[in-house]
Amino acid sequence: MSKKSSGVDRREFLVGVSALSLSAPLLAYTKAPKRQKAQVVIVGGGYGGVTTAKYLKKENPGLDVVLIEERPFFMSCPMSNHFLAGLMELTPLCFSYNVLEAKYDIRFVNDKVLGVELDKRVVRTSSGYIAYDYLVLSPGIDYDIEDKPFYRDSLVFNPPAFKPGSEHIYLKRLIEDFEGGDIVITVPTPPYRCPPAPYERAALIASMIKRDKLKAHIYFIDANERPPVNSEGFLTAYYDLYKDIATYVTSAQVRDVDVHKKVVSTSHGNFKYEIANIIPPMKASSLLEDAGLLKKGQKWVEVNPLTFETSVRNVFVIGDASQSYLPKSGYAAHSEGKLVAKLINARLRGKEIKEEFLQMICYAMVSDREAIMTETAFRYDAVSKRFIPTHREDNQRKESTARRYEEWARGLWRDLFG
Ligand SMILES: Cc1cc2nc3c(=O)[nH]c(=O)nc-3n(C[C@H](O)[C@H](O)[C@H](O)COP(=O)(O)OP(=O)(O)OC[C@H]3O[C@@H](n4cnc5c(N)ncnc54)[C@H](O)[C@@H]3O)c2cc1C
Repeated sequence: MSKKSSGVDRREFLVGVSALSLSAPLLAYTKAPKRQKAQVVIVGGGYGGVTTAKYLKKENPGLDVVLIEERPFFMSCPMSNHFLAGLMELTPLCFSYNVLEAKYDIRFVNDKVLGVELDKRVVRTSSGYIAYDYLVLSPGIDYDIEDKPFYRDSLVFNPPAFKPGSEHIYLKRLIEDFEGGDIVITVPTPPYRCPPAPYERAALIASMIKRDKLKAHIYFIDANERPPVNSEGFLTAYYDLYKDIATYVTSAQVRDVDVHKKVVSTSHGNFKYEIANIIPPMKASSLLEDAGLLKKGQKWVEVNPLTFETSVRNVFVIGDASQSYLPKSGYAAHSEGKLVAKLINARLRGKEIKEEFLQMICYAMVSDREAIMTETAFRYDAVSKRFIPTHREDNQRKESTARRYEEWARGLWRDLFG
């Protein structure tokens, strides 16, 4: 293993920490490894975390940055509906964290964070404690199923594929083995990860049914009245392209899922299925609740909307887990990661940065070749203390938009891992 700039390699570092945490008070440990530089610890190697790590080091190569991620490799949710519908392999969506170590000297710790002790400024992993001066948390979402226990079995048998990794692989296997019958897809009410993603998924699976001439029908059961974004573009595509093979049921609440009888019960009747993609409601990762950053009853972590700093100085929550004016998206998590990296580097130089309003671009496929898109700009209204969005939707489905979508994703991956 290569020596890192702090003079302590990752294994020594963790072993040292474990040993000390057993034998000495934690505060003694935080002083033990002689750290010449401020240390930034980032939890979560998804869109927000990887961006923050890379941009911190790009601007300040000497900084000591540790990225902790429980998965062995990165998998992108953006474009994962392409994978599910057979338009793309899995490999282009996956990236190795080695690149971050090799190119940017970011210390990658492949471990699960079990707790964050804000008062002691340490995170606890299964291998020991890691101290920080600045902490950036980007652990993404959890499914919000505590008061609806039927979702528990459903998560096992009907993978939502809204967390990257094995859920996608299992759902893909179910789709590949599918020989015909009814498919049920359900959508919760927002806020959830990537508002257009379930609508894109329904369109791409319908398009796959047409392409492969399967004897199948989709029941697309939406808790909302209509798609929350690009409503016109999605509804027109559903009507023009899929009216014979898909039924769109709106304002329907999921009440039960019987995984053995394969029936979804809703406020609009029961639907029997061969395959179901049940997408439960979502909330911020429970790690943040355990850390005390989520107050009782809150689903997302309150942050300063301009800096993503929590009520604890030098502790930031970015990406889907934060309560932000931006929709929960990889685009937003990437922009927030860049902003927080700039802010931390400025703070290390004794400066603060100017306010920045972030923007959004969001693409969605409506057939295997065509996409629609939305651009959103935000301004802050000081009187109502709210961020006011201005949307520019392009609901005309086009092949050129689908190409721009793919270019956007590939550009983002190059930026993170290239
Ligand atoms: C089907 C689908 C399609 C999408 N399409 C788009 C799109 O086209 N455009 C777009 O902008 N966005 C899209 N998104 C949304 C995008 O994927 C998310 O908004 C983005 O990943 C959020 O980034 P994040 O850093 O908050 O979370 P993530 O990217 O999920 O990263 C969180 C990371 O934290 C890790 N982690 C969690 N807990 C721990 C722990 N205790 N210890 C260690 N590691 C931990 C997780 O393993 C994960 O790798 C899509 C999402 C889905 C599901």
